[in-house]
Amino acid sequence: MQVPFFTFRDFPAGLQPRVEEALVQEFRKNQLILGPSVTRFEQEFGRYLGGGDVIGVGNGYDALVLSLRALGIGPGDEVVVPANGYIATINAVQQVGAQPVFAEPDHRTYNITAATVLPVLTDRTKVVLPIHLYGQSCGMEDLLTLCQTRQLALVEDFAQAQGARYKGQCVGTFGKINATSFYPTKNLGAAGDGGAVVTQDKTLAEWVRQYHNYGQSKRYEYAQAGVNSRLDSLQAAVLSEKLFSLDELNAERKRLAALYHQHLTGVGDVVLPKVASEDTGHIYHLYVIRTARRDDLQRFLQEKGIQTLVHYPVPPHLQPAYQGLGYRAGDFPLTEELAATSLSLPLFPGMTEAEQAYVLEQLQAFFN
Ligand SMILES: *Cc1c(COP(=O)(O)O)cnc(C)c1O
Repeated sequence: MQVPFFTFRDFPAGLQPRVEEALVQEFRKNQLILGPSVTRFEQEFGRYLGGGDVIGVGNGYDALVLSLRALGIGPGDEVVVPANGYIATINAVQQVGAQPVFAEPDHRTYNITAATVLPVLTDRTKVVLPIHLYGQSCGMEDLLTLCQTRQLALVEDFAQAQGARYKGQCVGTFGKINATSFYPTKNLGAAGDGGAVVTQDKTLAEWVRQYHNYGQSKRYEYAQAGVNSRLDSLQAAVLSEKLFSLDELNAERKRLAALYHQHLTGVGDVVLPKVASEDTGHIYHLYVIRTARRDDLQRFLQEKGIQTLVHYPVPPHLQPAYQGLGYRAGDFPLTEELAATSLSLPLFPGMTEAEQAYVLEQLQAFFN
Protein backbone atom coordinates (compact mmCIF):
# COMPACT_ATOMS: atom_id res chain seq x y z
CA MET A 1 0.00 0.00 0.00
CA GLN A 2 1.15 3.54 -0.71
CA VAL A 3 0.35 6.14 1.95
CA PRO A 4 1.09 9.76 1.05
CA PHE A 5 2.19 12.20 3.75
CA PHE A 6 -0.51 14.59 2.65
CA THR A 7 -3.04 14.67 -0.15
CA PHE A 8 -6.39 16.28 -0.87
CA ARG A 9 -9.40 14.03 -0.47
CA ASP A 10 -13.04 14.96 -0.69
CA PHE A 11 -13.51 15.42 3.06
CA PRO A 12 -16.01 16.27 4.43
CA ALA A 13 -17.88 14.70 1.51
CA GLY A 14 -18.90 17.31 -1.03
CA LEU A 15 -16.30 19.93 -0.04
CA GLN A 16 -14.06 19.32 -3.05
CA PRO A 17 -16.83 19.80 -5.67
CA ARG A 18 -18.03 22.90 -3.77
CA VAL A 19 -14.52 24.37 -3.87
CA GLU A 20 -14.22 23.65 -7.60
CA GLU A 21 -17.62 25.22 -8.28
CA ALA A 22 -16.68 28.30 -6.21
CA LEU A 23 -13.54 28.71 -8.36
CA VAL A 24 -15.54 28.58 -11.60
CA GLN A 25 -18.11 31.06 -10.29
CA GLU A 26 -15.40 33.40 -9.06
CA PHE A 27 -13.61 33.35 -12.37
CA ARG A 28 -16.79 34.48 -14.10
CA LYS A 29 -17.26 37.44 -11.77
CA ASN A 30 -14.45 39.30 -13.49
CA GLN A 31 -12.88 40.78 -10.37
CA LEU A 32 -9.87 38.66 -9.66
CA ILE A 33 -7.90 40.94 -7.34
CA LEU A 34 -9.39 42.29 -4.09
CA GLY A 35 -13.13 42.89 -4.55
CA PRO A 36 -16.22 41.52 -2.76
CA SER A 37 -15.09 37.90 -2.34
CA VAL A 38 -11.94 38.96 -0.53
CA THR A 39 -13.92 41.33 1.72
CA ARG A 40 -16.43 38.56 2.38
CA PHE A 41 -13.74 36.09 3.39
CA GLU A 42 -12.00 38.66 5.58
CA GLN A 43 -15.25 39.28 7.44
CA GLU A 44 -16.10 35.59 7.74
CA PHE A 45 -12.65 34.71 9.05
CA GLY A 46 -12.80 37.61 11.53
CA ARG A 47 -16.16 36.32 12.79
CA TYR A 48 -14.85 32.76 12.98
CA LEU A 49 -11.87 33.87 15.06
CA GLY A 50 -14.19 35.76 17.38
CA GLY A 51 -13.31 39.32 16.51
CA GLY A 52 -10.77 41.59 14.92
CA ASP A 53 -9.93 42.95 11.52
CA VAL A 54 -8.59 40.52 8.94
CA ILE A 55 -6.53 41.74 5.99
CA GLY A 56 -5.86 39.16 3.30
CA VAL A 57 -2.28 39.30 1.99
CA GLY A 58 -0.11 37.42 -0.49
CA ASN A 59 1.28 34.73 1.83
CA GLY A 60 2.17 33.92 5.44
CA TYR A 61 5.64 35.40 5.18
CA ASP A 62 4.25 38.74 4.03
CA ALA A 63 1.69 38.62 6.85
CA LEU A 64 4.59 38.39 9.32
CA VAL A 65 6.59 41.15 7.63
CA LEU A 66 3.57 43.48 7.47
CA SER A 67 2.71 42.79 11.13
CA LEU A 68 6.22 43.71 12.23
CA ARG A 69 6.33 46.79 9.97
CA ALA A 70 2.94 47.96 11.28
CA LEU A 71 4.45 47.92 14.78
CA GLY A 72 7.41 49.96 13.54
CA ILE A 73 9.92 47.19 14.24
CA GLY A 74 13.26 47.73 12.51
CA PRO A 75 17.04 48.00 12.93
CA GLY A 76 18.20 47.92 16.54
CA ASP A 77 15.16 45.93 17.70
CA GLU A 78 15.21 42.33 18.86
CA VAL A 79 12.39 39.87 18.22
CA VAL A 80 12.22 36.61 20.17
CA VAL A 81 11.32 33.60 17.99
CA PRO A 82 11.34 29.83 18.64
CA ALA A 83 14.74 28.23 18.00
CA ASN A 84 12.90 25.20 16.55
CA GLY A 85 10.51 27.18 14.34
CA TYR A 86 9.98 27.52 10.64
CA ILE A 87 12.43 29.58 8.60
CA ALA A 88 9.79 32.06 7.36
CA THR A 89 9.32 33.54 10.82
CA ILE A 90 13.02 34.26 11.26
CA ASN A 91 13.37 35.51 7.73
CA ALA A 92 10.51 37.98 8.29
CA VAL A 93 12.29 39.45 11.32
CA GLN A 94 15.43 39.94 9.28
CA GLN A 95 13.46 41.40 6.39
CA VAL A 96 12.43 44.39 8.52
CA GLY A 97 16.03 44.85 9.67
CA ALA A 98 15.51 43.56 13.21
CA GLN A 99 17.52 40.89 15.03
CA PRO A 100 15.94 37.44 15.56
CA VAL A 101 16.76 36.05 19.02
CA PHE A 102 16.08 32.35 19.58
CA ALA A 103 14.35 30.82 22.59
CA GLU A 104 14.33 27.09 23.30
CA PRO A 105 10.93 25.37 23.29
CA ASP A 106 9.32 23.58 26.20
CA HIS A 107 10.42 19.93 26.14
CA ARG A 108 6.85 18.57 26.24
CA THR A 109 4.98 20.80 23.79
CA TYR A 110 7.84 22.08 21.57
CA ASN A 111 6.37 25.57 21.95
CA ILE A 112 8.15 28.52 23.55
CA THR A 113 6.79 29.59 26.96
CA ALA A 114 7.22 32.57 29.27
CA ALA A 115 9.85 30.52 31.12
CA THR A 116 11.93 29.84 28.00
CA VAL A 117 11.56 33.39 26.64
CA LEU A 118 12.52 35.20 29.85
CA PRO A 119 16.25 34.31 29.78
CA VAL A 120 16.77 35.74 26.28
CA LEU A 121 15.08 39.13 26.84
CA THR A 122 17.32 42.19 26.66
CA ASP A 123 16.60 45.90 26.78
CA ARG A 124 16.45 45.82 22.98
CA THR A 125 13.65 43.22 22.87
CA LYS A 126 10.51 44.70 21.32
CA VAL A 127 8.45 41.70 20.27
CA VAL A 128 7.83 38.12 21.36
CA LEU A 129 6.78 36.09 18.31
CA PRO A 130 5.56 32.61 19.28
CA ILE A 131 4.56 29.98 16.70
CA HIS A 132 1.72 27.64 17.67
CA LEU A 133 3.89 24.85 16.39
CA TYR A 134 2.39 21.74 14.78
CA GLY A 135 -1.08 23.10 15.65
CA GLN A 136 -0.87 23.30 19.44
CA SER A 137 -1.69 26.64 21.04
CA CYS A 138 1.06 28.16 23.18
CA GLY A 139 0.41 29.00 26.85
CA MET A 140 -1.02 32.41 26.03
CA GLU A 141 -1.75 33.61 29.54
CA ASP A 142 1.86 33.40 30.70
CA LEU A 143 3.19 34.87 27.45
CA LEU A 144 0.71 37.78 27.63
CA THR A 145 1.59 38.49 31.26
CA LEU A 146 5.29 38.48 30.43
CA CYS A 147 4.75 40.85 27.50
CA GLN A 148 2.60 43.20 29.55
CA THR A 149 5.09 43.36 32.43
CA ARG A 150 8.02 44.00 30.10
CA GLN A 151 6.04 46.24 27.73
CA LEU A 152 6.65 44.03 24.72
CA ALA A 153 4.35 43.44 21.78
CA LEU A 154 3.07 39.91 21.32
CA VAL A 155 2.76 38.82 17.68
CA GLU A 156 1.37 35.35 17.01
CA ASP A 157 2.41 33.22 14.05
CA PHE A 158 -0.64 30.97 13.73
CA ALA A 159 0.14 29.59 10.28
CA GLN A 160 -0.04 26.03 11.65
CA ALA A 161 -3.00 26.54 13.96
CA GLN A 162 -6.10 28.03 12.32
CA GLY A 163 -8.95 27.04 14.59
CA ALA A 164 -6.80 25.99 17.57
CA ARG A 165 -8.10 27.49 20.80
CA TYR A 166 -6.53 28.51 24.07
CA LYS A 167 -9.10 28.43 26.90
CA GLY A 168 -11.79 28.47 24.24
CA GLN A 169 -10.44 31.54 22.42
CA CYS A 170 -9.03 31.13 18.92
CA VAL A 171 -5.30 31.66 18.53
CA GLY A 172 -4.52 34.61 16.30
CA THR A 173 -6.57 36.91 18.55
CA PHE A 174 -4.26 37.20 21.56
CA GLY A 175 -1.39 39.23 20.14
CA LYS A 176 -1.33 42.90 19.22
CA ILE A 177 -1.17 41.89 15.56
CA ASN A 178 -0.96 38.36 14.21
CA ALA A 179 -0.07 36.49 11.06
CA THR A 180 -1.27 33.34 9.35
CA SER A 181 -0.67 31.48 6.10
CA PHE A 182 -3.13 29.77 3.74
CA TYR A 183 -0.44 27.69 2.03
CA PRO A 184 -2.38 24.74 0.54
CA THR A 185 -1.30 22.17 3.14
CA LYS A 186 -2.16 24.32 6.17
CA ASN A 187 -5.29 23.41 8.13
CA LEU A 188 -7.08 26.24 6.34
CA GLY A 189 -5.40 26.00 2.95
CA ALA A 190 -6.04 27.86 -0.30
CA ALA A 191 -5.44 26.61 -3.84
CA GLY A 192 -2.18 28.56 -3.98
CA ASP A 193 -0.41 31.18 -1.90
CA GLY A 194 -2.29 33.32 0.58
CA GLY A 195 -2.08 34.75 4.08
CA ALA A 196 -3.71 37.15 6.49
CA VAL A 197 -2.96 39.71 9.16
CA VAL A 198 -5.35 39.77 12.13
CA THR A 199 -5.59 42.56 14.69
CA GLN A 200 -8.14 44.12 17.05
CA ASP A 201 -6.29 47.44 16.74
CA LYS A 202 -8.10 49.69 14.22
CA THR A 203 -5.05 51.89 13.56
CA LEU A 204 -2.79 48.93 12.82
CA ALA A 205 -5.52 47.36 10.65
CA GLU A 206 -5.90 50.56 8.65
CA TRP A 207 -2.13 50.84 8.22
CA VAL A 208 -1.84 47.28 6.88
CA ARG A 209 -4.89 47.73 4.64
CA GLN A 210 -3.19 50.65 2.92
CA TYR A 211 0.36 49.37 2.97
CA HIS A 212 -0.37 45.96 1.41
CA ASN A 213 -1.94 47.63 -1.63
CA TYR A 214 0.81 50.11 -2.60
CA GLY A 215 -0.15 52.45 0.24
CA GLN A 216 -3.36 53.39 -1.53
CA SER A 217 -5.79 55.37 0.65
CA LYS A 218 -8.34 56.14 -2.07
CA ARG A 219 -8.34 55.13 -5.71
CA TYR A 220 -4.99 56.36 -7.09
CA GLU A 221 -4.25 58.34 -3.94
CA TYR A 222 -1.26 57.15 -1.92
CA ALA A 223 -0.94 58.11 1.74
CA GLN A 224 2.35 56.24 2.07
CA ALA A 225 4.67 54.15 -0.05
CA GLY A 226 3.56 50.54 0.32
CA VAL A 227 4.03 47.13 -1.28
CA ASN A 228 1.92 44.73 -3.30
CA SER A 229 0.83 41.79 -1.19
CA ARG A 230 -2.82 40.92 -1.79
CA LEU A 231 -5.02 37.90 -1.38
CA ASP A 232 -6.63 37.19 -4.74
CA SER A 233 -10.35 36.55 -5.19
CA LEU A 234 -9.98 32.96 -6.39
CA GLN A 235 -8.14 32.08 -3.18
CA ALA A 236 -10.69 33.97 -1.09
CA ALA A 237 -13.54 32.00 -2.70
CA VAL A 238 -11.78 28.70 -1.94
CA LEU A 239 -11.06 29.82 1.61
CA SER A 240 -14.68 30.81 2.28
CA GLU A 241 -15.80 27.31 1.29
CA LYS A 242 -13.15 25.65 3.42
CA LEU A 243 -13.66 27.93 6.41
CA PHE A 244 -17.18 26.60 6.58
CA SER A 245 -15.75 23.13 7.26
CA LEU A 246 -12.67 24.13 9.25
CA ASP A 247 -13.90 22.82 12.60
CA GLU A 248 -14.89 19.55 10.97
CA LEU A 249 -11.51 19.27 9.22
CA ASN A 250 -9.72 19.92 12.51
CA ALA A 251 -11.95 17.45 14.36
CA GLU A 252 -10.99 14.79 11.82
CA ARG A 253 -7.30 15.52 12.38
CA LYS A 254 -7.85 15.21 16.13
CA ARG A 255 -9.62 11.89 15.66
CA LEU A 256 -6.73 10.52 13.58
CA ALA A 257 -4.22 11.83 16.15
CA ALA A 258 -6.11 10.15 18.99
CA LEU A 259 -5.95 6.83 17.12
CA TYR A 260 -2.20 7.21 16.59
CA HIS A 261 -1.85 8.03 20.26
CA GLN A 262 -3.86 5.03 21.39
CA HIS A 263 -1.95 2.54 19.24
CA LEU A 264 1.55 3.98 19.59
CA THR A 265 1.58 4.30 23.36
CA GLY A 266 4.39 2.10 24.67
CA VAL A 267 5.72 1.17 21.22
CA GLY A 268 9.55 1.12 21.17
CA ASP A 269 11.12 4.33 22.44
CA VAL A 270 8.52 6.47 20.67
CA VAL A 271 7.74 9.81 22.31
CA LEU A 272 4.23 10.94 21.39
CA PRO A 273 2.98 14.52 21.01
CA LYS A 274 1.85 15.95 24.35
CA VAL A 275 -0.87 18.47 24.95
CA ALA A 276 0.20 20.82 27.74
CA SER A 277 -3.18 21.05 29.47
CA GLU A 278 -6.90 21.24 28.83
CA ASP A 279 -6.40 24.91 28.01
CA THR A 280 -4.04 24.45 25.08
CA GLY A 281 -5.94 23.12 22.09
CA HIS A 282 -4.11 21.05 19.47
CA ILE A 283 -5.45 20.70 15.94
CA TYR A 284 -2.62 18.50 14.67
CA HIS A 285 -1.38 20.36 11.66
CA LEU A 286 1.39 17.81 12.05
CA TYR A 287 1.61 14.62 14.08
CA VAL A 288 5.22 14.57 15.20
CA ILE A 289 6.73 11.63 17.06
CA ARG A 290 10.28 11.26 18.33
CA THR A 291 12.59 8.26 18.33
CA ALA A 292 16.34 7.76 18.60
CA ARG A 293 16.06 5.51 15.51
CA ARG A 294 14.43 8.22 13.39
CA ASP A 295 16.51 7.85 10.23
CA ASP A 296 16.20 4.05 10.20
CA LEU A 297 12.47 4.30 10.83
CA GLN A 298 11.98 6.81 8.05
CA ARG A 299 13.88 4.58 5.61
CA PHE A 300 11.91 1.50 6.72
CA LEU A 301 8.57 3.25 6.23
CA GLN A 302 9.71 4.60 2.86
CA GLU A 303 10.45 1.03 1.73
CA LYS A 304 6.94 0.05 2.82
CA GLY A 305 5.41 2.84 0.72
CA ILE A 306 4.71 5.21 3.62
CA GLN A 307 5.78 8.80 3.16
CA THR A 308 6.95 10.73 6.23
CA LEU A 309 8.66 14.11 6.62
CA VAL A 310 10.99 15.77 9.12
CA HIS A 311 9.97 19.15 10.53
CA TYR A 312 12.72 20.29 10.53
CA PRO A 313 15.98 18.38 9.94
CA VAL A 314 18.42 21.28 10.46
CA PRO A 315 17.60 23.92 13.08
CA PRO A 316 17.75 27.55 11.88
CA HIS A 317 20.77 28.43 14.04
CA LEU A 318 22.82 25.78 12.20
CA GLN A 319 21.71 26.82 8.70
CA PRO A 320 24.36 28.45 6.51
CA ALA A 321 22.07 31.44 5.98
CA TYR A 322 21.99 32.28 9.70
CA GLN A 323 25.64 31.93 10.66
CA GLY A 324 25.74 35.70 10.94
CA LEU A 325 23.56 35.53 14.06
CA GLY A 326 26.55 34.15 15.95
CA TYR A 327 25.00 30.94 17.32
CA ARG A 328 26.90 27.65 17.42
CA ALA A 329 26.15 23.92 17.64
CA GLY A 330 25.25 23.14 21.24
CA ASP A 331 23.59 26.50 21.91
CA PHE A 332 20.09 24.99 21.77
CA PRO A 333 20.39 21.37 22.92
CA LEU A 334 16.68 20.58 22.91
CA THR A 335 16.13 22.14 19.47
CA GLU A 336 19.08 20.13 18.17
CA GLU A 337 17.73 16.93 19.69
CA LEU A 338 14.30 17.57 18.15
CA ALA A 339 15.90 18.01 14.74
CA ALA A 340 17.68 14.66 15.13
CA THR A 341 14.74 12.62 16.47
CA SER A 342 11.47 14.06 15.11
CA LEU A 343 9.38 12.37 12.45
CA SER A 344 6.02 13.59 11.12
CA LEU A 345 3.58 10.79 10.30
CA PRO A 346 0.98 10.92 7.51
CA LEU A 347 -2.16 12.70 8.72
CA PHE A 348 -4.73 14.48 6.57
CA PRO A 349 -8.52 14.79 6.49
CA GLY A 350 -9.90 11.92 4.46
CA MET A 351 -7.10 9.49 5.38
CA THR A 352 -8.75 6.08 5.37
CA GLU A 353 -8.95 3.60 8.22
CA ALA A 354 -7.00 1.11 6.10
CA GLU A 355 -4.23 3.62 5.46
CA GLN A 356 -3.81 4.48 9.11
CA ALA A 357 -3.99 0.82 10.15
CA TYR A 358 -1.22 0.06 7.64
CA VAL A 359 0.99 2.86 9.01
CA LEU A 360 0.45 1.59 12.57
CA GLU A 361 1.14 -1.99 11.53
CA GLN A 362 4.45 -1.01 9.91
CA LEU A 363 5.48 1.13 12.88
CA GLN A 364 4.84 -1.79 15.20
CA ALA A 365 6.73 -4.15 12.86
CA PHE A 366 9.74 -1.83 12.90
CA PHE A 367 9.96 -1.64 16.68
CA ASN A 368 9.36 -5.35 17.21
C1 LIG B 1 3.81 28.02 6.48
C2 LIG B 1 4.37 28.86 7.54
C3 LIG B 1 4.75 30.20 7.31
C4 LIG B 1 4.84 30.82 5.96
O1 LIG B 1 3.78 30.76 5.17
P1 LIG B 1 3.90 31.01 3.58
O2 LIG B 1 2.48 31.27 3.22
O3 LIG B 1 4.46 29.79 2.99
O4 LIG B 1 4.75 32.21 3.36
C5 LIG B 1 5.17 30.94 8.38
N1 LIG B 1 5.24 30.42 9.61
C6 LIG B 1 4.91 29.15 9.89
C7 LIG B 1 5.00 28.64 11.26
C8 LIG B 1 4.48 28.32 8.85
O5 LIG B 1 4.18 27.04 9.12
